[in-house]
Amino acid sequence: MSDYYNILGVEKTATPDEIKKAYRKMAHKYHPDKGGDTKEFHKVNEAYQVLSSKEKREQYDKFGRVFEGAEQQQGQGFEGFDFGNFWQQAGAGAQAGPDFDPSDLGDIFEQFFGSKMRRNENEDIKRGDDIQIDVELNLEDVLTPVTHKIAIMKYTSCSRCSGVGAEPGTKVKECQTCRGTGRVQQIQRSVFGTITRYAVCPDCGGEGNTPEKPCNVCHGEGRLKNKEEIQIEIPAGVDSGQVLKFQSRGDAGRKGGSAGDLYVRLMVKPHRIFERKGDDLYTEAEINFSKAVLGGEVEIPSLEKNKKIILKIPKNTDSGKIFKMTGKGVPHFNGYNKGNLYVLTRTKTPKILTRTQKDLINKLRHEGL
Ligand SMILES: [Zn+2]
Ligand SMILES: [Zn+2]
Repeated sequence: MSDYYNILGVEKTATPDEIKKAYRKMAHKYHPDKGGDTKEFHKVNEAYQVLSSKEKREQYDKFGRVFEGAEQQQGQGFEGFDFGNFWQQAGAGAQAGPDFDPSDLGDIFEQFFGSKMRRNENEDIKRGDDIQIDVELNLEDVLTPVTHKIAIMKYTSCSRCSGVGAEPGTKVKECQTCRGTGRVQQIQRSVFGTITRYAVCPDCGGEGNTPEKPCNVCHGEGRLKNKEEIQIEIPAGVDSGQVLKFQSRGDAGRKGGSAGDLYVRLMVKPHRIFERKGDDLYTEAEINFSKAVLGGEVEIPSLEKNKKIILKIPKNTDSGKIFKMTGKGVPHFNGYNKGNLYVLTRTKTPKILTRTQKDLINKLRHEGL
């Protein structure tokens, strides 16, 4: 077992920054393009892959190993490989100069060893499920970003084993089913003959090993299903039917696999006063006869709490006239602009009149109104 801290020449307590610095130094020193030792270069890269990941480093500190990827690369011969050519093939030729950024190495190495594909295949099996939930909002809620709290049943990573599934302090043994290869052979007979296929081992999820003693809390699953209150940030301007994706907020993966995503489908409830079309709002306002003739102001309720909107009515306003109030609609999703508010005005005909009002209206009639 190689000591990753030793390889990078850092203390066990090194900060992520120190690790990165040490890695850059070592990667330059051993870089094959500069005549460095490819074997050392590989070791440095492997150590960095583990120590630069919070999760993997935790696993490594706890169990002395990491449960996916990095170690599987060991023992695969690559000495004598033409790296110069390889960098170009990998599209990294330009980076191999003095400005070369070693942080890109991880990916390239994974592609080179083919372990990335293999890891992805494993990941598919271990990945947590996506979760879909419906969230109902009031129209008022779309004016500003809101934090929505909701309790859901979901898998979360087991804290006792850091999601690995092994009882802390216990060893890991070779998987019996696949004898450590992480793969199982499947033979299919068809009209074309016999096809031999290799599939990811179902018992170890392709890792080639299983914990000697499964975690006491999660029984080796690496995750637990609990009712959990989650908080989601809903941006302003969302609309009914819209689906928001929250990456990695779904079920935690099995045995440290990646988490699924959370999909939130939104439903904005109809409003008592305002009708919404896109970013625009529509409402109606009643104005009395004298305001319609002489002009004046009407108060319109606002979606914003404790706010009123004043609509100025010009004189001689016919019933049914629509007024546009720019920027009084709802905010555009992911934008700065707001829609407009359209107010349809109706002239109210009084149903009950006092004696004075009746006399005055009679006088108006005599005046030809
Ligand atoms: Zn297996
Ligand atoms: Zn556990």
